[in-house]
Amino acid sequence: MNKQVAVTLAARRQEILDTWIAKIEKRTKAQWVPREALLNNIPLIIDELTEALRKSAAMTAVVAIPRRVAESHGEGRLELGFSLAELGEEYNSLRESILEALDSANVRLDNATAAALHAAVDQAHRFGVERYINLQQSRLLERQSEFIALLVHDFRGPLSNVLTGTQQLRTATAGDERATKTLDRMDRGVRRVLALVERELSAAQALSGDLHIHVSQFDAKPLIEDTVEMLRLKAEAKSLRLEVSIEEGCRASTDPLLLGQVIQNLLDNGIKYTASGQIRLDARNDGGVLALTVEDTGRGISKDMLPLIFQLYRRSENTSPGRGIGLAVTKSIVDALGGTISVTSVEGAGTRFEVRIPNKADDTALQPSAAN
Ligand code: ADP
Repeated sequence: MNKQVAVTLAARRQEILDTWIAKIEKRTKAQWVPREALLNNIPLIIDELTEALRKSAAMTAVVAIPRRVAESHGEGRLELGFSLAELGEEYNSLRESILEALDSANVRLDNATAAALHAAVDQAHRFGVERYINLQQSRLLERQSEFIALLVHDFRGPLSNVLTGTQQLRTATAGDERATKTLDRMDRGVRRVLALVERELSAAQALSGDLHIHVSQFDAKPLIEDTVEMLRLKAEAKSLRLEVSIEEGCRASTDPLLLGQVIQNLLDNGIKYTASGQIRLDARNDGGVLALTVEDTGRGISKDMLPLIFQLYRRSENTSPGRGIGLAVTKSIVDALGGTISVTSVEGAGTRFEVRIPNKADDTALQPSAAN
């Protein structure tokens, strides 16, 4: 049966294309698109479908349109500015045009052939949609990253000027306790805004796979303590204990800004998803590796969710107050620093993240990571 359908499709190829284009051209957006652009991969899809049906008759193979052809169609539709609904309509119209051609050739499909035909068209549609969405998402992330980079650039200058200004005022008002306190507050505020914009920048870069890594050697203790202090108020507002234990002389040789971001994300989640009890951070040197654990007594993560939490936009629906990007960013950063991150959790009892970051030589040329 597949063979007979294949022969009919080959013979009626032009008729199918004409019917398809007549259906599609009724759409307003399609009316101003040149015919070749509109047809784009459609003849190839029909040919591949015909070929797959012909082959499957011989070997009872699965009828499938090659992924690259379907993906290229999805990509082409994104370039033309078509919506996913329009992509869906195209496949429906293709299905209708094929069925109409078979009908007019008096070919009656049996169940198996009809199923094979529909499955092949459905699968091609799915591949096209996947490609469309992935490409759209990565372009959005690139644009977001560029926009934030510009924003950070515009913020840095004036904020650095304020810091220089407060430094000068300190000298001028030396001994005036009230002035010193005000200047301290101003410094903290400005540094906080700077940290926030820097953090947004590296998050956007991590997601678009374009992290810039600057390795230096430093004492891990003050860096970790500063990060913890930024979050202490948040923990106290929920009456949570925030405990920190850092091995004496614990040094690191990595990107301090990115390391701070990893710690901040994990602690922030610990606080967010813990209703009572504590969040605990341990840091130590483990033979050339900075080993960190962040453990909480929070709600935990279900077994189903656990393998997925490092994926972008993955969050426990309705029960998560976040955007679902924190752990994806964290994982991309850890990967880019050449480290590992793992998680264990017991639902209702708590979660433990373990991060291991190897020491790098200064300015080691680490490659930007691909976000995953
Ligand atoms: P979000 O912005 O939603 O917190 P994340 O990527 O940081 O996004 O986390 C993804 C999901 O993993 C969260 O929505 C939450 O369901 C779960 N999760 C992360 N950290 C914890 C934790 N410490 N305790 C419980 N659940 C967590």
